[in-house]
Amino acid sequence: MDEYCKYCVHFFMHYVAHKGDFMAIDFGHCVFPRVKPRDAMTKACVHFRAVDKLTDRT
Ligand code: SF4
Repeated sequence: MDEYCKYCVHFFMHYVAHKGDFMAIDFGHCVFPRVKPRDAMTKACVHFRAVDKLTDRT
């Protein structure tokens, strides 16, 4: 798995409400070592920790 924020345990995806459902917007925030905005496909930093490979983060 390539190392992008999207696949890091410190990344939280943001969603928008759309027609009664929620859609991921490929943007979110990182919480380590401090809170900051991040695009989902930002190249990973030195603090990257991979999510469980069975976790669906699409
Ligand atoms: S900035 Fe670093 S620690 Fe934060 S989500 Fe991306 S890879 Fe993970």
